[in-house]
Amino acid sequence: MLNDYTYAKNPKSHIYYCSKKNKGCKARVKLDRNGIIINKAEDSTHFHPPPKYYQTSSGEYIKLSS
Ligand SMILES: [Zn+2]
Repeated sequence: MLNDYTYAKNPKSHIYYCSKKNKGCKARVKLDRNGIIINKAEDSTHFHPPPKYYQTSSGEYIKLSS
């Protein structure tokens, strides 16, 4: 989770794609080998608002709406 958006990791690379990638969102985050974000600004633009999550007292995230 980053900036209220959720990402899914590409298993073959260090690139995390927006969880709405399959809906056409092109936003992605690339990490270097140290886990530092090396993202370009044009790669981080979502065409949708961030999903609403609620964090429970145990630290879990619950999705409120899609
Ligand atoms: Zn997105």
